[in-house]
Amino acid sequence: MDPASATKDTLPNGAWAQVSVIDSASLSNLPLEPYFHCDLPRLQRVTVPAFSFVITNQQGRCALFDLGLRKDWPKLAPTAVAEVHNDELGIHCEQDVRDILDAHDFRIDDIEAIILSHHHFDHIGDPSRFPSSTALVVGPGACEALMPGYPDQEDSEILTSDYSGRDVREIDFTSTNLFILGLPALDYFGDGSLYLLSTPGHAVGHMAALVRTTTSPDSFVLLGGDACHHCGELRPSPGRPLPTSAPPCVTRFLERQSNDGKQAFFQIQRDARFAAYCHNADEAEQTIVRLQRFDALDNVLIIFAHDASLKTVVDEFPATLNDWFVKGSSCRWRFLGDFEE
Ligand SMILES: [Zn+2]
Repeated sequence: MDPASATKDTLPNGAWAQVSVIDSASLSNLPLEPYFHCDLPRLQRVTVPAFSFVITNQQGRCALFDLGLRKDWPKLAPTAVAEVHNDELGIHCEQDVRDILDAHDFRIDDIEAIILSHHHFDHIGDPSRFPSSTALVVGPGACEALMPGYPDQEDSEILTSDYSGRDVREIDFTSTNLFILGLPALDYFGDGSLYLLSTPGHAVGHMAALVRTTTSPDSFVLLGGDACHHCGELRPSPGRPLPTSAPPCVTRFLERQSNDGKQAFFQIQRDARFAAYCHNADEAEQTIVRLQRFDALDNVLIIFAHDASLKTVVDEFPATLNDWFVKGSSCRWRFLGDFEE
């Protein structure tokens, strides 16, 4: 199947996997202007979570998707530490993903891989806290762009200790014949329960993950990493127009934009001052358009790594997200609270 023929908005069949969210860390004072322009007072500097996920298929194969932050962030590569200082970020991580898994007696040795949406310090965590049998899975081009890590390469954004002594597998989407709603995909476990999706733009080799949460009826969560930094970059969209129940402050905002309620509130930042924050703005924009096709489906819930609007509504590990669809999802538009004047 080629991308052109994959226009029918149906998702492939397969098994389901258990998926849980870990909310181990947060970033405060995060500026959003480098990612998209917005004059809403509530969206200048924000406090956001840095979600990680535990995914286990029915044969017991287990992978993590993203690791959030490390507790000892001053030990990050100097390039990353400089980013923290430049943006005047607050980093809060008392218990990292490993600590939280241990607190629940999770069998760490069963984790076959840490899959990274991308390499930024708020996603890579501290892989050295996991056994050497745990592989690191990264997106296309990541190895060449980032390795060797610091201190072997002074200006690398990652540490050599993030990957040394373990298998590093770089995903190659160029030879895949699987496309899901136009996105190159890879069936990670081979049973249709976890697909890695090529979602380039924000960072080199950026990937998302599509996890099937139930079968008959099928439902999915799409772990979107940093494809968006706020749901207003994704919604509204032609397939997911603004609900008529939206509060007046939101409709006033749309009127000022001459937005018919079918276009996203915010667009990828193009100002050259912020070029360093986005690897490829054209690709990032194209990725969002593709994700809007997933978001138009009622049985797909997209969760970005820093979606503060989901922070108090999703049940955290060891609870699972698998029942989100049967419970009924009212969280898709929770972010509209950010428009309150
Ligand atoms: Zn991030």
